[in-house]
Amino acid sequence: MTDSNTHFDYICIGGGSGGIASANRASRYGKKVAIIEAKLVGGTCVNVGCVPKKAMWYGAQVAEAIHKYSADYGFDITVNKFSWEKLVESREAYISRIHKSYERVFMNNGVTVIKGFAKFIDNNTLDVDGVVYTADHINIATGGRPIKPAVPGADLGIDSDGFFALAHQPKRVVVVGAGYIAVELAGVLHSLGTQTHLVVRKEKPLRSFDDMLSDTITELMQEDGIKLHAHTQVEKVEKRDDNTLEVHLVNGTMLEADVLIWAIGREPANNTIDIENTSVKLDERGYIKVDKFQNTSADNIYAVGDNIGKIDLTPVAVKAGRLLSERLFNNKTDAHMDYDLIPTVVFSHPTIGTIGLTEAQAREKYGDDLTIYNSSFGAMYTALTAHRQVTKMKLICAGSEEKVVGLHGIGYAMDEILQGFGVAMKMGATKADFDACVAIHPTSAEELVTMS
Ligand code: FAD
Ligand code: NDP
Repeated sequence: MTDSNTHFDYICIGGGSGGIASANRASRYGKKVAIIEAKLVGGTCVNVGCVPKKAMWYGAQVAEAIHKYSADYGFDITVNKFSWEKLVESREAYISRIHKSYERVFMNNGVTVIKGFAKFIDNNTLDVDGVVYTADHINIATGGRPIKPAVPGADLGIDSDGFFALAHQPKRVVVVGAGYIAVELAGVLHSLGTQTHLVVRKEKPLRSFDDMLSDTITELMQEDGIKLHAHTQVEKVEKRDDNTLEVHLVNGTMLEADVLIWAIGREPANNTIDIENTSVKLDERGYIKVDKFQNTSADNIYAVGDNIGKIDLTPVAVKAGRLLSERLFNNKTDAHMDYDLIPTVVFSHPTIGTIGLTEAQAREKYGDDLTIYNSSFGAMYTALTAHRQVTKMKLICAGSEEKVVGLHGIGYAMDEILQGFGVAMKMGATKADFDACVAIHPTSAEELVTMS
């Protein structure tokens, strides 16, 4: 017999992007739904990810506008000081408002939020700090967490969670890593005035992106003053009496820093939920194995988001979560996430927007049956100023019909340009379809419909 107070039609473990989206959608179909959240509702994205990151990036944009561009636009500005503390206060106030709006939505939808850490007792039963809950369906949306390397003194460094906890601006920072987070945090810190070193173990950051993007951002970061240390790794970290960190690299260089940030990747948060008490199977890296319907190997247990090892982006977790609820509770028996052609942006300086195949991937798939269009120009926003900034765009088209299979851009507003072109590519657009759309002038986006 189930207890009607603690039995639910659907429980989402994790109140992050995937769990919230799925729970709210299920509630729309009259289901009795609960979210179990151990920390803060909103998960990584709202609390220590996309949202605070974008707030800091906007702060960096303001700094760039003042320091690089304002004079040539006629402004005679004296900046008395930049207050990191004020930026953090504004950011956190914004996040509190997001928390409140979530609470309102949960209340309106009748979603119960259970605070605490969930552990499985069996396939249908969870323990949350000593209280037992049961559900007909359980969605594991536990997300991921940052990792640190096994080098002496690694714990003297912080990770991206620690970055968002910084109460004061560090004067000198070493960022280690080569992915989205390393590039974004190094860019923000540098633009806000912190002396920034970026340490990458291979030749450049963002190696998995199209070479045009990774080469250009590498060049621009260095031109801008970020100190890049390539082909090297951290050997050990030590702390002096005055709290200065000594970051020793294997190439013999020693970097002094107030803060060291590890941004070398994340791991799934699946290993502390007693998953062994279920029949859910993990892969060799600890991610939950799911089929295309987000089904795990246990009946009535599903998983969405960063803990399944597919694409770690908020809109991916949200969409997968919603589609799962459409399938389970709205009779859309074939509803499932399409993991193909997902647009993504790196909030670098300037931003990178990318969707589809890199040129290397396209060559592997289509051989020489490709037409590549490239464009390079100065963004008009900066063209009036002494600090010219390059924009580069690339279209990769396959076959005689020139289907657009890859679109890559770096430059002013690329983050906002990409979404609409993503729609066109999802619809199977060709180069001729792009060209059939009249350009909007003067913009950067127009380049994508006028390339020859
Ligand atoms: P999460 O959002 O991580 O939510 C999981 C939740 O589960 C957490 O709140 C956690 O506390 C909770 N939890 C875990 N275990 C338990 C348990 N046993 N019991 C109860 N609760 C539990 N993506 C973008 O699309 N755009 C961006 O700009 C972007 N920027 C990012 C910047 C940073 C610094 C980081 C780290 C990530 C960024 N991401 C971005 C990625 C994005 O945040 C994630 O892809 C997204 O949050 C994944 O959602 P999720 O639901 O899978 O997990
Ligand atoms: P990523 O997996 O994207 O990048 C980490 C990189 O660090 C690796 O690719 C690797 O690059 C390098 N690395 C790995 N191990 C080491 C090591 N021991 N020493 C030095 N370098 C190492 O992880 P992130 O943590 O940056 O981001 C996680 C995910 O979160 C992203 O993939 C993305 O999906 C999401 N995200 C999205 C954002 C957005 O949408 N704007 C922003 C932030 C995160 P290499 O092999 O080249 O050395």
